[in-house]
Amino acid sequence: MQELSCTSCGNRVLVEKYSPTHTSIQWLADAESSCPEFARQAALGVDSKWIPTCTSLRDSIDEAAVKGVLETDSPRSYPVPGRLT
Ligand SMILES: [Zn+2]
Repeated sequence: MQELSCTSCGNRVLVEKYSPTHTSIQWLADAESSCPEFARQAALGVDSKWIPTCTSLRDSIDEAAVKGVLETDSPRSYPVPGRLT
């Protein structure tokens, strides 16, 4: 997993992205207290487990993937050439 921070709220998360459609996010801090978007939804009475993710965080992840900052392939699934041990 790679560490990434939301460009909007600065919240830091761990991200794993294997394909454009697969993204897993692991929050390092309590989402409601670290992300204004979650806090806003929680204030409206939405249970945090029903909030998919912060939309600006999602944008940040997409942007990082497009820029190549975020690796979209799992290096573990590829054989390393020249290393047969
Ligand atoms: Zn956010």
